[in-house]
Formats: sequence, C-alpha cells, structure tokens
Amino acid sequence: MDSMNDQLRSDEERLAANIARVRSQIEEAARRVGRAAEEITLVAVSKTMPVELVKIAYNLGVTDFGENRVQDALPKIAEFHPRGMRWHMIGHLQSNKAAKVAGAFDAVQSVDSLHLAQILNKHAEEEGKILPVLLQINVSGEASKEGMTFEETPGIARQIAALPSLKVRGLMTIAPLVGDPAEVRYVFRGLRGLRERLQNEVAECSWDELSMGMTGDYSVAIEEGATIVRIGRAIFGERVYKGDTTT
Ligand SMILES: *Cc1c(COP(=O)(O)O)cnc(C)c1O
Repeated sequence: MDSMNDQLRSDEERLAANIARVRSQIEEAARRVGRAAEEITLVAVSKTMPVELVKIAYNLGVTDFGENRVQDALPKIAEFHPRGMRWHMIGHLQSNKAAKVAGAFDAVQSVDSLHLAQILNKHAEEEGKILPVLLQINVSGEASKEGMTFEETPGIARQIAALPSLKVRGLMTIAPLVGDPAEVRYVFRGLRGLRERLQNEVAECSWDELSMGMTGDYSVAIEEGATIVRIGRAIFGERVYKGDTTT
C-alpha cells in the first residue's frame, strides 16, 4: 500500500513538472510571435499510458486527451470521462470502428476521407450528437502518411461541410520526423496556407483550428499558428511498446 502511494506521488511530481515545462514552452513560443497562450489547446496524448496517468494529468489541469487506437481508448474513456474533459481521436480510423468512436469520443481529428466522414456523420446522428471533426491533411506528401492531399481537400471539404451531424472545426497534420524541427516549418506553414484557401472557398465552416505540433516540433508549430498541439512524450515520458510498433 505504501509503495503504491509512493508510486502515485512520484508520478504526480513527474507529470506536474512535465506539464509545467510544456506550458511554459507553449507560452514562450506564443509570445515570440505575439500570440496569447490561451489561444492554444494542449491535447495530452495518452496512447499506451494507463488511465491512472490520465487522471493525474486531469487533476493537474489538463482537460483534453488524445488516443490513436480505438480498442485501447474505449476502456479508458469508459472509466474516466468527467464533464468538461474531452477525448480526441487522433489516429487513423477504419470505418468499421466509426460507430464506437462517434459514441465515445468528443472529437475526431483524423478524418481523412469523405467516406469516413459520411459514416461518422451517420453514427453521430444516431447518437443524437454533433461531432466536432478536423480534416487530416498530408502536407509533406510522404506516401506513408494518412491524410488528404492539398489538391483534393477543397472539393472533399465542401461535401463534408454539408454533413449535418459533423461540425468541421479545422485541419490537422502530422509532420515528418526530423532531427531539427526547423526542417518541418514548411509543413505547418503549408497547413495554415490551406486554411486560408478554405476560409475563402468553403466559407460555411470557420476553419478556426490548426492541430499541428508534437513533442519534437510544437514550438515551431505554434510560431506558425497552431491552435491545438498534441503532446505525448514530453508529458508522459517515452512509450514502451510490447512487440507492436504501431504509433
Ligand atoms: C503519438 C502521437 C502524437 C504525440 O507524439 P509525441 O511525439 O509523443 O508528442 C501526436 N499526434 C499523433 C497523431 C500521434 O499519433
């Protein structure tokens, strides 16, 4: 019992220090470009982490959490979902899991096709809810990345915007992994440019949100206009995968 309490206390101290460090870096990056830190939502990416750590982070003031695998997320959401806390789906989503996602999650950041949007819309409607979504864009053009291309996005966005049970809030992207985050500044700038284009061409949505920036590159993403950063390792520590390297 004592060692359990010791473990809890050390997790609390570790997460408190990590969250404080991330928040102050968010503030610094925002200040460098004349933005307010309050414009930026911190999504703590809790994939592979036990729900106990989610509870600790929530008690330290984090309200938004991200998960990338439906089957891992559902038990955590079932166990812990206080009012005012939001669970974001951030990983590639197969349409056969869309019903569960529409039921359990508060937002889906990884809408990468019209087909997926249509199925999410149908299930959100059945749930009697309006599901906030972001469109995932493959800015870098890497073949391995999920997401819509620049060219196809305006056409698809127009059709998704017309779905009554989805609320399109903006765009999301994942930058390539690089050693120096300055190398992916063009990705974040590109996503912001696409948003401007959509604000003109698909004006029925406000396109407020830009979800971009992870542990390795969130300061650069904020300098380029991120309104949502998705941060895992800088908060919870390195992930240990048990024989499965899917991220
Ligand atoms: C894992 C993941 C993150 C967080 O990555 P870190 O490097 O741990 O900050 C952010 N976004 C997506 C889509 C992810 O899958």
